[in-house]
Amino acid sequence: MQRIGVLTSGGDASGMNSCIRAVVRKAIYHGIEVIGIKRGYSGFIEAEMYPMNLGSVADIIHRGGTILHTARSERFKTKEGRALAMENVQRFGIQGLVVIGGDGSFTGASIFHQEYGIPVICVPGTIDNDIAGTDYTIGFDTAVNNVVDAINKIRDTATSHERTFVIEVMGRGSGNIALAAGLAGGAESILIPEIPFNVQDICHKLLSGLKRGKLHSIILVAEGAASGLEIGKQIKELTGLDTKVTILGHLQRGGIPTAFDRTLAARLGAKAVELLKDGETNKMVGIKSGEIVATDLTEVIGQPKSIDKEMYELAKILSI
Ligand code: ADP
Repeated sequence: MQRIGVLTSGGDASGMNSCIRAVVRKAIYHGIEVIGIKRGYSGFIEAEMYPMNLGSVADIIHRGGTILHTARSERFKTKEGRALAMENVQRFGIQGLVVIGGDGSFTGASIFHQEYGIPVICVPGTIDNDIAGTDYTIGFDTAVNNVVDAINKIRDTATSHERTFVIEVMGRGSGNIALAAGLAGGAESILIPEIPFNVQDICHKLLSGLKRGKLHSIILVAEGAASGLEIGKQIKELTGLDTKVTILGHLQRGGIPTAFDRTLAARLGAKAVELLKDGETNKMVGIKSGEIVATDLTEVIGQPKSIDKEMYELAKILSI
């Protein structure tokens, strides 16, 4: 393997830069050249590509987002779009591809591999932590810390005004961010799509907490479970309590990546290069019980990732 390409695709996640840095520097260490592909599959089709060197990834380890930029490309979902990308593979002499992104990006990579035989290794980069085959995805830990920071701040106001706050967090169809941040932030209730909930039970808990002298309540809602505004409205109607709603939105994604995300990204990026060098393809690198592992894309794409039910139960017990 003499030359590989690297791209980031789908939603941005903090730590992607650390991963790009690892891919570039590990490849150069092995004498492999790297072509950076800008704007995900969109730049792959449009030939927005450039050779990267050691300096291309200098001073980015601590930056959120992705220096390669990211995009969504409807054209890559078509045969015609992928044929244009293949022309660029030939033009730039790319012999293997590292794709950093989520499930959709992996689907694109897998189809591209099936059609043209170009080796692909995927790296999970998404704040949602909704990818099977890995305990953690790059960007999840930073997002959870962003949410916990927000909870800390809102808690000050909630306590001062003795109010109930509903906070809606991201996660698409997954409750992982809400669960991890809810446990770390001491939320009174955590609503996630994986576990059915009842607003009346939440109100009951809220009112009995108030009776015991609780000064505030924080209810964390995963966007995939319900709308924070709707939950806030229902709580207000059922309890008469002044309930405020905050939708954290894009405050959750960016920011300085945590040490955990940087380390994970470095290990996964380096492993992706090693796999390509060893002739592997159609795999995703991930972390399982602390070990860096490779899983076939067929066992990753479209596969559900279960929630940690014990963690959910613990959060419930501790927030009584
Ligand atoms: P994520 O990778 O975060 O899940 P998306 O689902 O938006 O994000 O997918 C990112 C990109 O991957 C899409 O814009 C598209 O270019 C590509 N992609 C997704 N699904 C397919 C598919 N079925 N065939 C080819 N490319 C796909």
